[in-house]
Amino acid sequence: TAISGADLLKTAAAQFIAKPHKLFIGGEWRDAVSGETFDVEDPATGMVIAKVPAASVQDVDLAVIAARKALEGPWSKMTGLERGKLISRFASKLEELADELAEIEAIDCGKPVAYAKYVDVGLSANTYHYMAGWASKVSGETVSVSTPGEFHAYTLREPVGVVAQIVPWNFPLVLTAYKLAPSLAAGCTCIIKPAEQTPLSTLRLAEIIEAVGFPPGVVNVLTGYGATAGAALAEHPGVDKIAFTGSTEVGKMVARSATHSLKRVTLELGGKSPMVVFKDADLERAIPALASAIFFHQGQVCTAGSRLIVHRSIHDQVVEGIAAEASKLVIGHGLEPGTTMGPLISSRQIDRVMAYLDQGVAGGASVVCGGGRLGNAGYFMEPTILTGTKAGMAVVDQEIFGPVLCAMSFDDDELDTVAAEANNSPFGLSASIWTRDLSTAHKMAKRIKAGSVWINMHHFFDPALPFGGFKQSGWGREQGADAIRTFTEVKSVCAAL
Ligand code: NAD
Repeated sequence: TAISGADLLKTAAAQFIAKPHKLFIGGEWRDAVSGETFDVEDPATGMVIAKVPAASVQDVDLAVIAARKALEGPWSKMTGLERGKLISRFASKLEELADELAEIEAIDCGKPVAYAKYVDVGLSANTYHYMAGWASKVSGETVSVSTPGEFHAYTLREPVGVVAQIVPWNFPLVLTAYKLAPSLAAGCTCIIKPAEQTPLSTLRLAEIIEAVGFPPGVVNVLTGYGATAGAALAEHPGVDKIAFTGSTEVGKMVARSATHSLKRVTLELGGKSPMVVFKDADLERAIPALASAIFFHQGQVCTAGSRLIVHRSIHDQVVEGIAAEASKLVIGHGLEPGTTMGPLISSRQIDRVMAYLDQGVAGGASVVCGGGRLGNAGYFMEPTILTGTKAGMAVVDQEIFGPVLCAMSFDDDELDTVAAEANNSPFGLSASIWTRDLSTAHKMAKRIKAGSVWINMHHFFDPALPFGGFKQSGWGREQGADAIRTFTEVKSVCAAL
């Protein structure tokens, strides 16, 4: 029987979700110019929990004007240190409101609330704290040129300008933080467009932005559909940079639109991350971590460990171990105590995942565990493991973005051969290597073509570590010092003495 997720809310999240929602433009709360709205669902029940404005081209125009005005106004006069203090204050406020934000994220995205608090709110707050420190350290350098003593040359690092930030539905708070925190540190102004499936936590962020005292227009939030609001941001000549996280397909469209005005573009796209397990791996430690790598947030994670590449001698033991871990998952509403796995985000997404499964089975894969939908309310499905899969099958080559592991094995320990198998993908976002041999681990890390390589773990994120993809997993890096570089322009200044 369907439970109403809203009844499970314990914090002020209930009042926030129930209130009328508006766009946040130039420090003001307003309806979309068209007056249109769309529904927001709780994916665990399929019930509508809120209505938000559907921004379109006119709202994008207004947000760009507001962001430009703020960029040229008081924001540009603030010192880096002052910007950093504001960002820190914002980060601390997120920590203070962690329970409320976690509930909003849990009901909107279908996450266990404890994970939402620790991962989504925790990593977001840490990202703002980390980037707050950078705000006072964005600087150029002096450069030696030509005849010594005849010239004085130096570089300036200036904010790239108005930044549009397009965010997907799997980690709204975190993936906003990855863009917003370095943008603010660099002195940019921002227009955030959350995914249409999960706009609520971003609207709450906007209230906190207002409360901590960012000047109007520095941060604007437009809820809306990708094909309208998102596409208008990618096209808009008044936007200087697009920071996009989402599917590879839409990322390519955004990059094409951005060329019209030669906007700067960073793209964090899809993945099909390999987990390479050598026969000397510490399996007791590896197996629970491998299971979590694929089943965490129902596999709707761009870095999900979705291709298991394991030495044949331990293949069955590892697969059975992961299946045993899967059977321990407590599937339910993210706001129910004890839940460790929530629903998929939407009816469309579960249909997509099931279609991949059917295709895999038709192509000769065997289902070791799972494979079915669960319940009749919401979008729940069983954690699933496929064996008998190989490169060339859609389940192996394409991103499923669901709780589906494809297990494959290798016989030959020769590192180039194993690496070639791991690299046999159009994606290159992340990979993990499991071995007790340090030399094997680091030699493999060098051979893997991916932006993040983890050794004896999977899914480690830290604001100081650059994050992004090789190949079709994206352009550029978020987090770390690299993020500051991508939100600034370098100007060379040279004086004849
Ligand atoms: P999506 O590409 O459909 O949507 C992502 C965002 O883009 C949403 O805000 C959406 O409204 C917007 N959008 C859609 N069409 C648009 C258009 N024509 N122009 C501009 N914006 C548009 O992706 P999704 O299904 O929401 O998210 C899942 C995908 O995101 C997966 O492929 C996943 O791997 C990827 N992802 C990548 C990372 C990463 O950091 N690399 C992180 C999370 C998710």
